[in-house]
Amino acid sequence: ITEYHHKKILVLGLAKSGVSAASLLHKLGAFVTVNDSKPLDENPEAQGLLEQGITVICGSHPVELLDEGFQLIVKNPGIPYYNPMIERAVEKGIPIITEVELAYKVSEAPFLAITGSNGKTTTTTLLFDMLEQASKKPLIAGNIGTVASDVAQTAEKDNQIVIELSSFQLMGIDQFKPKVAIITNIYDAHLDYHGTREEYAHAKGNITRNQDATDYLIVNVEQEVVMNIARRSKANIIPFSTVKQLEFGAFVKEGAIYFHDEKVMDVKDIVLPGAHNLENILSAVAAAKLTGVDNESIHRVLSTFKGVKHRLQFIDEIKGRRFYNDSKATNILATENALAAFDMPTILLAGGLDRGNEFDELIPSLKNVKAMIIFGQTADKLERIGIEAGIKTIQRVDNVDKAVPAAFQLSEEGDVILLSPACASWDQYKTFEVRGDIFIEAVHKLK
Ligand code: ADP
Repeated sequence: ITEYHHKKILVLGLAKSGVSAASLLHKLGAFVTVNDSKPLDENPEAQGLLEQGITVICGSHPVELLDEGFQLIVKNPGIPYYNPMIERAVEKGIPIITEVELAYKVSEAPFLAITGSNGKTTTTTLLFDMLEQASKKPLIAGNIGTVASDVAQTAEKDNQIVIELSSFQLMGIDQFKPKVAIITNIYDAHLDYHGTREEYAHAKGNITRNQDATDYLIVNVEQEVVMNIARRSKANIIPFSTVKQLEFGAFVKEGAIYFHDEKVMDVKDIVLPGAHNLENILSAVAAAKLTGVDNESIHRVLSTFKGVKHRLQFIDEIKGRRFYNDSKATNILATENALAAFDMPTILLAGGLDRGNEFDELIPSLKNVKAMIIFGQTADKLERIGIEAGIKTIQRVDNVDKAVPAAFQLSEEGDVILLSPACASWDQYKTFEVRGDIFIEAVHKLK
């Protein structure tokens, strides 16, 4: 592509996606400057860029830089639009994109894109696995550790790029046009970053902005905000619903998943628990069917898929107790979902960073919880709601490592032992992944 040749381009924000974007643009003949707020000695990636002859300015975002005549800015999705440099760039009318747009431009492979407030990673992973099972040569890109423009550069025409997109990434697209788009859902939970609900929904809606009648948009019919986006889209709308039978799209009828008028598989063969996961499953099935995946491949994936790591992930069954790691549940809604997934008596392991909320919303979800093991900054608050919910056994421990044997000791055959903290991990653990890994290890130690 020649679009970027001899263009003056500013890449804002280093990180993995910035590094990848900068070297790609340099390769395409652009005059690239990279700017990051962290000092050079904290940016080991910068060295490689300097060696390629790319200008690197580190340590701050000097607004004057914008007087140098840049024709395009590639912004890291994490840099907010209220950053003074971005505000100035908008004033000056310099186009701003994110690295996803570049990925789209350099690749001939079709994109299957997934966005939404919740369920992105799960849906992306399911769809990827189904395509792979059917030998459709998928490549995975986005938040799951691989940078989109790196993946796009290696893609061949017959690959399919399955990409998870945040609303921040979607705010910086220009011509990005996915063959298949999925909006899993839109909830208010992310409003703090986006100001208004309209703005947030608008960013998500960008996923279909450039789609036309040759493309598909898969949406949850139960969600009015999402349906509003669908009504304005030019793509073919493919609805899904977990609660009602539809005339077309993906839905459940007589205990089976249907796509249009075709039975795909029995619901009882699905391993992944939770009504919320059935939504993710239906949207992934719809996308897979539209891409020509056969029912047998879909069945093989759904009858073995145990969940993405740390997201209601089944770990093991020990002496009749089933252990689930839902460390990704860093808010109340996520823990509500997790608890709703089980009918059996449950021992809940919860607690973590105190963000100032009181957890009262969680009380109705505790009806199957027979005991709580609590830890971290929010232990007091969780104890209070546990008492209010009438839970007899509430035990306080130092950390997740100690919570697991404590739960095991209280448990009986048939119980679910669930880590779903309803809180971020930062009071005790660097990330939710670290917290989940400690849980997994503690479960294995029980054996
Ligand atoms: P994301 O990538 O959007 O953060 P994940 O697939 O990683 O989503 O799931 C994160 C958490 O979000 C899950 O542990 C679950 O509690 C919740 N979740 C997943 N799918 C849905 C859904 N379809 N509706 C509501 N909540 C969901």
